[in-house]
Amino acid sequence: MAAPIAPPTPCPSAEKVSSSLAARAARIAGWHGSGMLDWPGRMATTLFVTGCNLRCPYCHNSDILAADSAREGALEGLLEHVHARRSWIDGVVVTGGEPTLDPALFALLDKFAALCLPVKLDTNGTNPSVLRSLLDERLVAYVALDVKTVPARYADVTGVKDAWARVEESVALLFGSCIPHEFRTTVFPRAVSLDELPEIASMLRNGDHYVLQQFRPQHTLDPSAEAVHPYFEDDLVAAAQACSRFLPTTVRGV
Ligand code: SF4
Repeated sequence: MAAPIAPPTPCPSAEKVSSSLAARAARIAGWHGSGMLDWPGRMATTLFVTGCNLRCPYCHNSDILAADSAREGALEGLLEHVHARRSWIDGVVVTGGEPTLDPALFALLDKFAALCLPVKLDTNGTNPSVLRSLLDERLVAYVALDVKTVPARYADVTGVKDAWARVEESVALLFGSCIPHEFRTTVFPRAVSLDELPEIASMLRNGDHYVLQQFRPQHTLDPSAEAVHPYFEDDLVAAAQACSRFLPTTVRGV
């Protein structure tokens, strides 16, 4: 795995960063504490950017899929939170929604870079031009990219006709990048069968890592998804072993 990006130096004052951010505010719905779950190995604060172009039936963030669902004052609160914990936070996770749809994303990530805080980006991969710029400008230290299902089922699962073509382009960008990354599939049984997982892993074989994320049948965008029983843990572990023939694969959330 490639080495993490070294943060830029020197770091400006928190006050300077805060005031420049106010001029161009990212669409932030909220953030949560600091922990090591969202970026294994790092103590990170996770923030949620509003707006998403997909409609995955199992989505747990349905209340922030509209771009205008940002919370007033969230950015200022986030900055206060980060500043207060700067001495022991060593990263920020930017998730959503789909963060690459926010025109203010670059300005926001610039500010985290100025605070010497590496960023992990969670993305659905449908915006390869923005991802390319983020990689080129070294604004992200780690990328987690969702691969929802096999190509033939992508439009059905996401509700977007050309989603796979764009995700495929993003996958290729990560293959050609030195930025550490992982691909993730939420194993929602209606979206992906256990037999299809090695097929996905085969496509991702040039990547760093593949994660099979357990589906949780609670607070789903499509209420009928709550009636779907998740795969059994043993079956997921077996699927991960099958995927590991192509790239390192782990199960998360069981
Ligand atoms: S799961 Fe992710 S990509 Fe899918 S609708 Fe929810 S936020 Fe968007």
